[in-house]
Amino acid sequence: MEHPHGLPQNGIIQLAEKYIMKTYARLPLVLARGEGARVWDEKGREYLDFVAGLAVNSLGHCHPRVVAAIREQAGLLMHCSNLYYSGPQVSLAQFLIERTSFDNVFFCNSGAEAVEAGLKLARKYAYKKRGPGCFEIVTAQGSFHGRTYGAVTATGQPKYHEGFEPMVPGFKYIPFNDTAALREAVTGKTAAVLLEPVQGEGGIYPASPEFLKAARDVTAKTGTVLIFDEIQCGLGRTGRFLAQEHYGVTADVTCLAKALGGGFPIGALLSTGTIATGFSPGDHASTFGGNPLAAAAGFAALQALVEEKLIENAGAAGKYLRERLAALGEETGLIREVRGLGLMIGAVTSVPAKKVVTECQVRGLIVNAVKDDTLRFVPPLNIVREDVDQATGILKEALLAAACAAGDDSVKKNG
Ligand SMILES: *Cc1c(COP(=O)(O)O)cnc(C)c1O
Repeated sequence: MEHPHGLPQNGIIQLAEKYIMKTYARLPLVLARGEGARVWDEKGREYLDFVAGLAVNSLGHCHPRVVAAIREQAGLLMHCSNLYYSGPQVSLAQFLIERTSFDNVFFCNSGAEAVEAGLKLARKYAYKKRGPGCFEIVTAQGSFHGRTYGAVTATGQPKYHEGFEPMVPGFKYIPFNDTAALREAVTGKTAAVLLEPVQGEGGIYPASPEFLKAARDVTAKTGTVLIFDEIQCGLGRTGRFLAQEHYGVTADVTCLAKALGGGFPIGALLSTGTIATGFSPGDHASTFGGNPLAAAAGFAALQALVEEKLIENAGAAGKYLRERLAALGEETGLIREVRGLGLMIGAVTSVPAKKVVTECQVRGLIVNAVKDDTLRFVPPLNIVREDVDQATGILKEALLAAACAAGDDSVKKNG
């Protein structure tokens, strides 16, 4: 295959290590092209992609509708300031609002920015409505909300705070799914409770129905803003448009990003009309937020998501993948637990997950280790059964190879 940059794969990796800051522990793989659930590296090797840009490429790679929308909008108007109105932003906003229980949207460029906007909106709303001193934010341990200061402070994992202190003041952390701790933590000083309905980076843990119901109940009683971070679990991934729909619980504010642009960067904050009054002109802004190009990509992506029935497919394919993983666990003894909702799935392995990731990669499957012992599967929502069968076939070989390498004698000899 032609090298678009005129560099061999090793050259790109070497130059990346030389020029780019070392914020990522990258795998030695240079991706050059993608189509649907498959990607190709610089050498033209094909991979089945069950990482999908970390739950971004929900439509698969280079979905024709998103590609066409970007091409068209790029030649019309790529960017204009939010000092003016633009059509694509309104189309995307209308779609999101008509599809959900929310009334207003704020557009930004990433997940962390959507979380920042949510935290600022909740504090400003509390300040206006209930006066100063009502600024506390309650979040869960093991959560992940992004890397900017507010979002990383909200993230209930000490490893992301270490060396960055002092963090933003006013945050409290409770154990995820601990209803009693949640009820105790929320007081007259609480501006917001921020939760992921399904924890993603923390290891794929769905909230218990009692926990989210208690969150709704206690926030309603105290006038606290309930924010759901659906940046990873939202937009069809769990088999519903929003994951909160599984629980019959509606937040006041919801953060979206990842899959929203069909691969193009865009984030959004959805809010009820009441809470949205917390922001007045000048209170919050983003230069690029919801620019015509990003919004056109997002609108095309959401149309494809709904019209191609990918939300339904996420439910069905997710169920099938979970069954296959459970069967693989039975067969090999190397998967101890399978968790998740729809196509947001974690599998706890009894061999090091990183080793399994490497063994999968050499066999043409891309998966992610979300913890030392947990694999994460977030494939495109349009995957078909044959893809799942191919992936679990590769995974089986990879698990056995990892077990072999670990000298694990727990492997059941099955014919
Ligand atoms: C990825 C993620 C974020 C951060 O999104 P960025 O676009 O990386 O800033 C926040 N919350 C959740 C739940 C996420 O999965």
